[in-house]
Amino acid sequence: MPLCRMDDLLKKARSGHYAVGAFECWDSNNIRAIALAAAETGAPVIFQASPVEYGTMGGADMLRRIVEGYVEKYHITAALHLDHGSTLEHVQECIDAGFTSVMLDASSLSFEENCELSRRTVELAHPKDISVEAELGHVGGAAEGDVISEATLTVPEEAVKFVDDTGIDCLAVAIGTIHGDYRGEPHLRLERLAKIAAALPLPLVLHGGSGTPPEQLERAIRLGIAKINICTDIHKTSLHAIEQAKLHLTPSVPGRFYEPVVEAVKTQVMHYIRQFNPMSRE
Ligand SMILES: [Zn+2]
Repeated sequence: MPLCRMDDLLKKARSGHYAVGAFECWDSNNIRAIALAAAETGAPVIFQASPVEYGTMGGADMLRRIVEGYVEKYHITAALHLDHGSTLEHVQECIDAGFTSVMLDASSLSFEENCELSRRTVELAHPKDISVEAELGHVGGAAEGDVISEATLTVPEEAVKFVDDTGIDCLAVAIGTIHGDYRGEPHLRLERLAKIAAALPLPLVLHGGSGTPPEQLERAIRLGIAKINICTDIHKTSLHAIEQAKLHLTPSVPGRFYEPVVEAVKTQVMHYIRQFNPMSRE
């Protein structure tokens, strides 16, 4: 099956009150693990990578070939998405490479600059039948001091104007998650999410899903979150599995060190898929 437009998967998810997991990709082992998890659960999945991640794999085109290979091999339903592009050149590179969705993250710029860059991203992507995600409000992380300031949260009225002005297909909202590990207790602003969701019918996206309590994620999905990004948890699982393999394995084939990595990441991805989508296979 060819790669799908991401917003097609997410519109179905929002109307069906479930979410699609979007899992970060950085090598062929973790891509294979994500693909196997999607095949075993029978659920749609999103592969995504930032420019640094696909750069370490030899470029956006190489990432797309590997993802597409596994999507065809395991007959899964999937989209391939640029996560946190920072320039229009990144957007164009991923469009040319055959991605089916792109995000240019201008959320740390002013409202007007974010609108302008997001609108230009739409102008590049839509003629190629590629969907666009943008972020309003700003989901921070450890690099920015790991503090959730109220001023960085998405304002519902601004979100409506932003979507109208840009023509984007999916909106990432800042409602209290962070990138990386939480230091304190996670606390999603669900009332704010409810207001945004009531005003906007398009699929909403939650960055920083790792470490967020399942009951908070379930309530967010019921309110309109259709895509949840997972990076930190599968990255940590992957590194831990490699360390364990080095302690216990002495294989003659170096690739066998990565078999436990694939198994561990697959198990974790299946867990998330089932948590986000009750219709996935047990
Ligand atoms: Zn993010």
